Amino acid sequence: MKSEAECPSDIFSGHTVGAVIVCAGRGERTGLSYNKILYNLGHKTVLETTLDKFVQAHVDKIVLVISPDDKAAIDELRAPYPNTCTCFGGDTRSVSVQNGLKALPDCDIVVIHDGARPYVDPDIIDKSIVSAINFGSGIAAVPTVDTVKEVTDGRIERSIRRDKLYNMQTPQTFRYNEIVKAYNTVLGSFTDDAEVYEKAGYTPRIVVGSYDNIKITTHNDLLRTLPSSMRVGIGFDVHRLVEGRPLILGGVHINYAKGLLGHSDADVLVHAVMDALLSAADLPDIGVLFPDTDPEYENISSMLLLDRVLERVADKGYTINSVSCVIIAQQPKMAPHIQEIRKNLAARLNLSIDRVNVSATTTENLGVIADGNAIASSASCLLSM
Ligand code: MG
Repeated sequence: MKSEAECPSDIFSGHTVGAVIVCAGRGERTGLSYNKILYNLGHKTVLETTLDKFVQAHVDKIVLVISPDDKAAIDELRAPYPNTCTCFGGDTRSVSVQNGLKALPDCDIVVIHDGARPYVDPDIIDKSIVSAINFGSGIAAVPTVDTVKEVTDGRIERSIRRDKLYNMQTPQTFRYNEIVKAYNTVLGSFTDDAEVYEKAGYTPRIVVGSYDNIKITTHNDLLRTLPSSMRVGIGFDVHRLVEGRPLILGGVHINYAKGLLGHSDADVLVHAVMDALLSAADLPDIGVLFPDTDPEYENISSMLLLDRVLERVADKGYTINSVSCVIIAQQPKMAPHIQEIRKNLAARLNLSIDRVNVSATTTENLGVIADGNAIASSASCLLSM
């Protein structure tokens, strides 16, 4: 009998392996206002990270089972991945999996996987496929670590021996015809496919999974997925407010009698944002990068300088997670302009608007800002590698 650990590459030839990746959950327990598979883990979303693992395994085609609400976003994310398609899910996981199976004809092996398990090892996917080829099924599972008790109304009724217990994960891989037959004959709703297969009279077999192969379910799971290398940056700037200059903040022209004085367009908000990004990436500040003695930068739009800063930050391997800034001004009133400034900055930073916050404050009639002679700004940012 072949060991499940053996994965000779020729075993895959002659088989067509499809994958059903279930992505239709709402994931309310993560506290996100959107599907958790669209959550950005730093460089890529949960879904892309999962797909990266599947392209490294012996899988020929992939169907993503999705919610209609996510179709546009998922179509964009899956575009670089070959041999992927989508179908819509149902009210329960079981219905979603069945819809996925229908969208995958002409396969003899099918890998079923939760889209919210981005840390699956491609070797485990392959081991589950080999097990399904040899024995009909391969279910990723890990030995249960915690002591398990049966509890009713807060009372422990029974201690359960742990040595035979395993926690089920995905991938769960099957001979295509057998799992389709199982779903057609077994009625009800199940949280995993191995149970459907078992209820149809088959004996599922496990392959050893990994404790790193977590399913992102709760807000704490999201925190655990944060990238290891994070950097906070801070920036501050102030410019004199004078007559005869346009007032530009966050790249937005604001209709006002005065504007900010400076060598560039003096966009004090963008200057603070640039210095925050540069400080987080351990790069020289804007005074060094764009000296006010260089005629190249005379009256230049600070948004163009921001583009150069973004390139420098990306060259160092950083991704921007979020930017927060505050405008400190007595006049003009900032509230009517905040949303446009946020939108403008977010677009330039290539971030969603919820990751770019802009607030405004006055100095309570104290000092040069209150006298209408200056506007200041500070910014902070979070980068990850
Ligand atoms: Mg400045």
